[in-house]
Amino acid sequence: MQVEFKNEPFVNFNVPENKEDFQRALDKVESQLGEEYALIIGGEHITTEKKSKSYNPSQKDECIGIVSQADQELAEKAIQVAAETFETWKHVAPQARSRYLYKAAALMRRSKHEFSAWLVKESGKSWAEADADTAEAIDFMEYYGRQMDQLGQRQPLTRIPTEDNELTYVPLGVGIVIPPWNFPLAIMAGMTTAALVAGNTVVLKPASTTPVIAAKFMEMLEEAGVPAGVVNFVPGSGAEIGDYLVEHPLTRFISFTGSRDVGLRINELAAKPRKGQKWMKRLIAEMGGKDSIVVDKDADLDLAASAITASAFGFSGQKCSACSRAIVHQEVYDEVLAKVVEQTKKLTVGNIAKNEFYTGPVIDEKAYNKVMEYIEIGKEEGKLVAGGVKGPEEGYFIMPTVFADVKEDARLMQEEIFGPVVAFCKADDFDHALTIANNTEYGLTGSVFSRNRAHLEKAREEFHVGNLYFNRKCTGALVGVHPFGGFNMSGTDSKAGGPDYLLLFTQAKLVSELL
Ligand code: NAP
Ligand code: MG
Repeated sequence: MQVEFKNEPFVNFNVPENKEDFQRALDKVESQLGEEYALIIGGEHITTEKKSKSYNPSQKDECIGIVSQADQELAEKAIQVAAETFETWKHVAPQARSRYLYKAAALMRRSKHEFSAWLVKESGKSWAEADADTAEAIDFMEYYGRQMDQLGQRQPLTRIPTEDNELTYVPLGVGIVIPPWNFPLAIMAGMTTAALVAGNTVVLKPASTTPVIAAKFMEMLEEAGVPAGVVNFVPGSGAEIGDYLVEHPLTRFISFTGSRDVGLRINELAAKPRKGQKWMKRLIAEMGGKDSIVVDKDADLDLAASAITASAFGFSGQKCSACSRAIVHQEVYDEVLAKVVEQTKKLTVGNIAKNEFYTGPVIDEKAYNKVMEYIEIGKEEGKLVAGGVKGPEEGYFIMPTVFADVKEDARLMQEEIFGPVVAFCKADDFDHALTIANNTEYGLTGSVFSRNRAHLEKAREEFHVGNLYFNRKCTGALVGVHPFGGFNMSGTDSKAGGPDYLLLFTQAKLVSELL
């Protein structure tokens, strides 16, 4: 019997021993900065002439690692190897495949602070955010292992006496896994291990800003004994090899998490059958968000304000679930805004490895420029009431920013900014607030703060998002507890960390034998 799934606990950094342990892991990671990482295709480590350097967003000139870059020729090789390996991997028993995940989860748990330290350095996460990212990666592996154990069992069917009928969930084939940089361990590991435990082989193209964390994960999969060729690691620019991987006739499915625009492009390219292609490609796409917190007039205003601040500025707003719109009933608008502004002004921003600051940088120069542009747009569309300026020069720091009195159709209320910026919008009443909440093309997360049961019930029906929360923040979904994924332009609602997720990586085969 398998032990029941339980979420990996978060580390309490107020305990001095935990702090010391984490600092030791950071020191160890420091001593390994700037090393080189190779591609891995069929177990072969391949170094290329073309390399990309990954930098620490808290300290722009600190090189985290130097990573070999796949070109189309190597992408081709990775797909060919994945296709060959599929012929053996698909015959490995489901329970045997899950055991690789349990082993990998155990290995990651053993060196969890090191993984988190890499996250701090390469993605600019705070200690606590990095720890949550690592915990989620462990959770995904434990959870999907158990899901596969279940899917591999005899499935309930209506049995008839004259036939032996069996339904099995068989794998699809070669999957291209394209994760984002903002949960560079959890989402990358979750997408990859879900695909492989279901019996597929993988070509993993990590995000270009966080390839070293992915390389560390690959080292761990090798240590766990995952056979060569099951996961092939091809770091490279999405623009350069992305289309090639997606369009390839041997690609059976694409598992993508990232922005709306890239997701839509992949959807279009994947839909067109290529010469020699025998299937319709499947796309699992989790995309952007423009997430709202609605505050009703009778809500607990302190609770609502703290949730807005935490959801908007944790990891500098770089979560797909981050609150970027606060929609507040006119009767309590001034009070909630004042509380959030007061809290926001206390937030500190700086080199996050030191664990002295609330939050760190945005991921890179491109993100920095984009967010600063939106701050200029915000000054036209609303009233700047907190932040709006850059932080210390050595990293891509932007102070947590609040705009008040933004109109419901303003760009700041409609477009994903993916940075520490929240817009406040005044609603006439609760119904109006819900209408505003639903007025974007996205539908990922949302929260409602209210003590009015009828209003909560109405929101339950009408607030059209994949993950809806009442009287709590809209970030921080837990594997198995809050299956995660969104509606509309937020993607295909594949519900990562949920009981249906693995079905997306399989197809069901019915065999009926007359007795
Ligand atoms: P992104 O720019 O869309 O990139 C995501 C991945 O796609 C990266 O690995 C990227 O590679 C790759 N890519 C870029 N162009 C490609 C192409 N033409 N073909 C194939 N792959 C291509 O997104 P991001 O900036 O990394 O992540 C932030 C976005 O992800 C936000 O919109 C956020 O809301 C969303 N997100 C959604 C969820 C969810 O569950 N719904 C979770 C997390 C994040 P390069 O790095 O080499 O460009
Ligand atoms: Mg990007």
